[in-house]
Amino acid sequence: MSDPAALLEIEGLSRGYGPVAALRDVSLRIDPGEAVFLAGPNGAGKTTLLRAVSGLVPGGGGRISFAGRRIDGLTPWAIAAAGVAHVPQGRRCFGPLSVEENLRLGAYTRTAGVAAAIDAAYELFPVLKEKRRQRTEELSGGQQQMVAIARALVASPKLIMLDEPSLGLAPIMVEGVRVALRRILHEFSTSILLVEQNARLAVSVGARGYVLRSGRVVLAGPSAELEGQMKEAYLGV
Ligand code: ATP
Repeated sequence: MSDPAALLEIEGLSRGYGPVAALRDVSLRIDPGEAVFLAGPNGAGKTTLLRAVSGLVPGGGGRISFAGRRIDGLTPWAIAAAGVAHVPQGRRCFGPLSVEENLRLGAYTRTAGVAAAIDAAYELFPVLKEKRRQRTEELSGGQQQMVAIARALVASPKLIMLDEPSLGLAPIMVEGVRVALRRILHEFSTSILLVEQNARLAVSVGARGYVLRSGRVVLAGPSAELEGQMKEAYLGV
């Protein structure tokens, strides 16, 4: 039975690609107002978990409930409309479009309040307002990551899921991502599921976390407890 108090509740989830099992009996929970990280080595199933929540990897066993309603089996559009935003790995901005056009695309599930939502995103990332008419492909990698996050926020999601937002960014931009995620949690009241291999970023954003390995949850708990165990298990230090 799913818990109606949870925002996202995943129970016994299995997913695969043909004969390849990517997730095996995974359970995970995020409460309203929580930031949770998901870590683990390459191929552990982190991206698959986010894609499964978004309805992009259908089939397989288990249940996914969001805001008290079962969402596995819904279309990606219906899941987005229910309040789940997904910032995929590699940013995936529409390069030839301007920054503002990219943000407008993020509002595709909204019927009202688009201008106010875009203004709120500009308040979070003022540099994007300065560059709003510029083609997104002309921006730095860090700024493109801001566009991808801002585009997700324009939908006013209840949950934002981010897939390795720090990948390939300079340390100063990684710090910018960390600050933005904390503001999203506190000022936008949006819960966060952060897939992150950068353990320092993961534990400084998430109060709790899960570690996946070969498609299974192998560690779960408060960040302070997991930090040391993750270093031992995955970094060999
Ligand atoms: P990374 O950190 O490298 O992104 P990950 O933890 O996100 O890894 P996934 O990308 O979810 O892991 O991959 C989980 C497993 O599923 C891996 O064995 C991977 O090879 C496999 N896999 C992922 N996508 C596909 C696909 N489209 N077709 C077939 N197998 C896939």
